Amino acid sequence: MVVSTFNGSTPLSYSNGTTISLSTFSLNSFVNVEKGDPVAFRPYWEKVRGECAVEIKGDECMSYFGDTNNLCWYMVPQMRDAILRLHNVVGNAVTKDKFLVLGTGSSQLYQALLYALSSSEPSDHPINIVAAAPYYSEYKDATDILQSRLFQWTGDAVLYDKDEPYIEVVTSPNNPDGTLRIPVVNSGARGKVIYDLAYYWPQYSPINYEADHDVMLFTFSKCTGHAGSRIGWAFVKDIEVAKKMIRFIHLNSIGVSKESQIRAAKIIGVICDGYQYLKSIESDHLFFDYCKRLMKERWEKFKGAIEQSKVFTLTKYPTSYCHFNKDLSEQYPAFAWLKCVEGIEDGERYLEKLKIRTRGGERFGVDAKYVRISMIGTDDEFIELCTRLSNAKIE
Ligand code: PMP
Repeated sequence: MVVSTFNGSTPLSYSNGTTISLSTFSLNSFVNVEKGDPVAFRPYWEKVRGECAVEIKGDECMSYFGDTNNLCWYMVPQMRDAILRLHNVVGNAVTKDKFLVLGTGSSQLYQALLYALSSSEPSDHPINIVAAAPYYSEYKDATDILQSRLFQWTGDAVLYDKDEPYIEVVTSPNNPDGTLRIPVVNSGARGKVIYDLAYYWPQYSPINYEADHDVMLFTFSKCTGHAGSRIGWAFVKDIEVAKKMIRFIHLNSIGVSKESQIRAAKIIGVICDGYQYLKSIESDHLFFDYCKRLMKERWEKFKGAIEQSKVFTLTKYPTSYCHFNKDLSEQYPAFAWLKCVEGIEDGERYLEKLKIRTRGGERFGVDAKYVRISMIGTDDEFIELCTRLSNAKIE
């Protein structure tokens, strides 16, 4: 397979036969693996760019409304159908008897859920929001910024011992450490759970069960890599919760961009067509197969670099049966979660000296010995990251 180059720079061969650009990094420039911008899958989309093109004419997509017969009135029917079809192809979630709520990214849906799952009346006791550490750093920030009287960030779910209602956010596979998770709060209090399944797609994790929870979040960003479209969705069992979320999104952004919905529906359609009609062709043409191979190859290179450096240890992941790939499969998380060996107390600062920008453990509710590294940046970035990591030595 031939993949076009990035930024017009010189192509270089990559061990799986793909081509990449020559490194544009100078010794003084930073490799920024701090954010989780999912551009790694761009070479796939370059191959099928024509098939994914959409044309929107001047008189189209003008209304605030997408489908007045749907509870989620701003969602266009193509978007709804595409999401249901995708889950049907992948088998990662039970969608029957649930309400589908569309959001401007799952970030918006997270805040919509905080509102929808809290009591309707402000009280002296805002509901406690918890997640087991290390947790996705944006949950805390997205909760705190609202300074709400309905809910408050309370921190690590493992430590929660209050006799007060709570909402636990369970991210599985987890950001930052890739672990598969279940709720952990061990208190007699009344609790609700938000399952954030942003990374429960075959390129990152074996699909070992069909998730069937009362509240589940998904995002187009991490599924296909099209983070810029800002499309996320929630499956919600309780109609009252769904209605409150839709009211929040009404007041927050009066729905979700129709242009984004149409593009996302088209792209999802291309993925599903591949699996439903073109299975006989080379698996490199199938989106999840291509991406899983890319992630596997990256993880192998990355583990090699970490072993060579002897400065960090890595989380170990179990192998399990993937119903989508019909084989035993490892996990290839979107982030690597590193722990420094004895003698290095601050991983982010240590890597900063090697000109590698990461996000330190404290942002995720644990100590500074840990750092998170994005595994889904450009090939250029990734190769330079491995080179710099393999040269790391204890001072
Ligand atoms: N949940 C998790 C666990 C994430 O990692 C991210 C993106 N980094 C999001 C939600 C937000 O995704 P979106 O782009 O849909 O807002």
